[in-house]
Amino acid sequence: MHIRSFKLKLLFSFACVILVCFGLVSYFLYKNLEENTLKDIKTTLLNEVYLIESLLPRDIINNPAYLEDLVKDLSKKINSRITIIDKSGKVLADSEKDLKEIPQMENHASRPEVKAAISGQTGEAIRYSSTLKMDMLYIALPVKENESVKAVIRLALPLSGIKIVLGRIRKEILFSIFFVLGLAFVFISLLAEGISRPIKRIIYASRRFAEGDFRHKIYASSKDEIGQLTVILNKMASSIEEKISQIEIQNQQLKNIFQGMVEGIITVDKQGRIVSVNPAVEKIFNINSRDIEGRPLLEVIRNNELAEIVKQAMDKRGLISQELVLTWPAQKIFKINASALFEKEMVIGCLLVIHDISQIRQLENIRRDFVANVSHELKTPLTSIKGFVETLIEGAWDDKENARNFLLIIQDHVNRLDNLIRDLLSLSYLESKEVVLHKEKVVLKVMVDEILAGFKSQLKKKSVEAKNSINPDLSVMADRDKLEQVFTNLIDNAIKFNRENGAIKIYAQDADKDIKVTVEDSGIGIPAKDIPRIFERFYRVDKTRSREMGGTGLGLSIVKHIVELHGGSVGVESTEGLGSKFWFTLPK
Ligand code: ADP
Repeated sequence: MHIRSFKLKLLFSFACVILVCFGLVSYFLYKNLEENTLKDIKTTLLNEVYLIESLLPRDIINNPAYLEDLVKDLSKKINSRITIIDKSGKVLADSEKDLKEIPQMENHASRPEVKAAISGQTGEAIRYSSTLKMDMLYIALPVKENESVKAVIRLALPLSGIKIVLGRIRKEILFSIFFVLGLAFVFISLLAEGISRPIKRIIYASRRFAEGDFRHKIYASSKDEIGQLTVILNKMASSIEEKISQIEIQNQQLKNIFQGMVEGIITVDKQGRIVSVNPAVEKIFNINSRDIEGRPLLEVIRNNELAEIVKQAMDKRGLISQELVLTWPAQKIFKINASALFEKEMVIGCLLVIHDISQIRQLENIRRDFVANVSHELKTPLTSIKGFVETLIEGAWDDKENARNFLLIIQDHVNRLDNLIRDLLSLSYLESKEVVLHKEKVVLKVMVDEILAGFKSQLKKKSVEAKNSINPDLSVMADRDKLEQVFTNLIDNAIKFNRENGAIKIYAQDADKDIKVTVEDSGIGIPAKDIPRIFERFYRVDKTRSREMGGTGLGLSIVKHIVELHGGSVGVESTEGLGSKFWFTLPK
C-alpha cells in the first residue's frame, strides 16, 4: 500500500505500534490471568477435597445411603460435583446421581485423575464431560487407611463459569484495546496535524520557490527541528533572491554594455547559426535581430571570408583578427575579431566583434591626401622660385627688364606661399580644441558693406556688381573676425568665379531658430558631381584656374569650420554655367 499523506502514514504507523504493543501486553496478561484463575480454583478444590476427606466416615464402602446424603449435602454447599470411588474404580456415590443409578455408572478406574489417586497421588484433569456436555475440572484425592488407598474422592467443577468470566475479561480487554486505539487515533490525529501543518506550509513555500517567487516567507510556529528548517528555508530563499537579483543586475549591466557598444556583436553557435546580435549589428547591416536569430550566419551576411573566420576561431579555439571589406549593405571596411566561446572546455560557438573602421581608413586617406596636397601646393611655387633665383644668379639679373619680371613672378609665388601658409595655420587653429569664439553682436548689413568696400577694386576690374540686400536690423551673436573671414572667402569666390559684368547678391532670411545668409553669383557654377566634395580641403573644380587666381583650395573649408563652430551649417546650390548660391546659417 502506498500512503501519500504524511498524516495518514503517521496515523497508520502509530495504530500498528499501539495494536501490536497493546495486543501483546493484553495477550500475556490474559494468559497469566487464565492460568492464575485456574490455579486458584484448583487450590480451592483441593482444599475442599481435603475437607471432605476429613468428613468421610472410615468405613466408606459399607454405608452407601449415608455416603449419598453426605455427598449431596456437601455438593450443594461447595457447589461442585462430588464422586466417591472405590479403589477398583467403581463409583460408590455421586452428588449428581441417585443411589439406584450408581450401579449403572461406568467404572472410573481409567480416568486419569482417578488413576493417579488410586496410585496414591493427587490427580487432576480437565476434560469434556459427555454427561454434562461441558469442560470440567477434576481433582481426585486418595482416601488412605494405614498408607493404603481405600477409596477416591473426586471433585468436579464445570469450567463454564470460569470461561464466562474469562470471556468477559477478554471482551473488556478487546474493548479497552479499541478504546485506547480510538483515543490514540484522536490524539495522533491532532499530533499529526500539528506536525503536518508546518510541513504543508514548507511544501507550499517550496512550490512557490520553484516557481521563482522567493519573496514568500514561511511562518515558523515552533522552535523544533521543523521550525529550524523553516528558518533555514526562509534564509535560503532570501539569499537565493539576493543572488538572483545580483545576477540580474550583472546581466542587465552586461546587456547594457552589449546594447550600447558601437561595435557590432554577433554570437553564433557551433553550427554557425546566429544566437544573438546587438543593436549595432542591426544598424551596420540594416537588419532586424528578430528576423535573423537562429538563421545561419552565411545566409544573413553573405560573405565566405566571414564564415571562414568563424570556422577558424572555433577550430583554433582562440582569437582570429582580420580586416574585411564588405560590400553589403554598403561598401565598408570592418575589423573582425572572432573568438571561440567555451562551456566546460568545449567549444560551443563563436563571438564576433565587428568594428566599422571605414571612417578611420577614410580619415587616414584624408590625412595622407592632405600631406600630399600640402607638399604639392608648397612644391610648385618653391620650384618656380628656385628656378627664377638660379636664372637670376646665373646672370639674368644683368638684363634689368627681365630681372624685374622674374622678381615679380617670384613675388607672386611668395604671396601664394604666404596665403597658403596663412590658410593652413588658420585651418589648423580652427580644427584645434583650443579655439575660442569671442561672440559679440554683429549687424550683418554693416559688416557686409565694409567687406564689399574692401573688394571695390576687384569688383571694378571684373565689372561685377554686388548688391547687399540684408535687412539693416538683422544682427547675430558671432565672433566678428571669424564671421568677416566667412564673408570674405565667399565674396572672394563669388568674384573670382564670376563672369565679366556679372552680379552678386547677398541677402539674409530670418527663420525661426536661425538666420540664413546667402551669397549668390552669376558665375561659372559648379558641376553637380563636384558639389558634395566642394567643402573638402584642397578640393577644387579646376586646380589650374584656382591657382592662377591665387586660390589655395582651403577657403570653403575654413568657411565650413567657422560656421560649424558657431553651431550653424553650410550648403551650396549651383547650376553649371548659371551661377552658385552659397549659404550658411547661424543660430540666433
Ligand atoms: P579656392 O582657393 O580654390 O577658391 P575654395 O575652397 O574657396 O578654394 O573653393 C574651392 C573650389 O570651389 C574652387 O576652386 C572652385 O572650383 C569652387 N568654387 C568656390 N566658390 C565658387 C563659386 N562661387 N562659383 C563656382 N565655383 C566655386
